[in-house]
Amino acid sequence: MDFSRPDNARRINRLKVLSELRKGTCSKAELSRRLDINKVSIGEICQKMIEENLISESGREQTLQGRPGTLLSINSKAGRVFSIEEGRASLSVAVSDLQGRILRYERLPKGESFQNDILKLVSKMSTGDTTIYGAAIASDSDIPIDLPFPFIRITRAEAEAEAEMARLGDLESFLFLSWSDSIAAAIRKNGMLITLPQFPHIRAQKDGDCSCGGKGCLEAAASGRTILRKAGAESYRALFSKAEYHDTIQSAMRPMAAALSEAIQALSASSVIITGRMSLMPDPFYAYLQTLVSSLLPPSRSDVIIYRSSAGENGAREGAALKALDSFFYHTELLARLKAIENLSDPFPSGI
Ligand SMILES: [Zn+2]
Repeated sequence: MDFSRPDNARRINRLKVLSELRKGTCSKAELSRRLDINKVSIGEICQKMIEENLISESGREQTLQGRPGTLLSINSKAGRVFSIEEGRASLSVAVSDLQGRILRYERLPKGESFQNDILKLVSKMSTGDTTIYGAAIASDSDIPIDLPFPFIRITRAEAEAEAEMARLGDLESFLFLSWSDSIAAAIRKNGMLITLPQFPHIRAQKDGDCSCGGKGCLEAAASGRTILRKAGAESYRALFSKAEYHDTIQSAMRPMAAALSEAIQALSASSVIITGRMSLMPDPFYAYLQTLVSSLLPPSRSDVIIYRSSAGENGAREGAALKALDSFFYHTELLARLKAIENLSDPFPSGI
């Protein structure tokens, strides 16, 4: 894209205004100051977006000096995104507004065609003429999908990590352990979220056949699916309400602690957050896992804490909605790349 062309520059400035308003209401004068765009341009951009119903005026600034400006905010009802979540046996679709608030959510048992099931739910949840900007599919499979609007595919671990960061902040150097039917992990390093495909296949016990063909993988020892198979449906459900140290949990916690302590050291992770279904396990299980992990880490790293997800079972859905908004409405990656270019050119003032 040629950023010096006026229509592209206007498009970029529009995105900058939207991403600033995503953080909260703001006046035109304040937008001009924060974004370093002249007031006339800001005025034109905002006027156009008000006419398009993308943003609206929402009260006046609280100020002691000068004339209070009119506050602008994103008209969150002006568009929608979908989060599509593929579980082991079910499929769910949620529709969110432009602030990422989930408005509706429906789940279906998986039928014969993933594609048809998604289209069925999506058309059921599309209301009137509200613009659909796009969707994010959080899934660990690679079944081909075709949708009538733009979409991206992300892993469940990524979606869950996005939800945590939206709630808790940047979480640099945190290791995200997505622990549900299957196991996945990601780490935040240098402002980037990196998926760790090897994590579920860390050798964490002597034997046990894994779907990858390997032996003794963490996935085979500690995934939700394994716990369910060993404990039976009733005990598995009870696990979330009663902290009974039955054998199945103990035999899953030990390999999990071994894999975690290895990953924490290899990646210099500062803390761990457990996301997904297993994050709902009672506190004593966290304490047990924490004790095991701390005992395996060298004394200098024994301060690593294992946290519970703040989004719980909603994580994948919430995170996918945010990724869809980032990709198709706020275009955060484009803005981040531009910012990086601007920062690169900063050390060389004009004239050099
Ligand atoms: Zn494996």
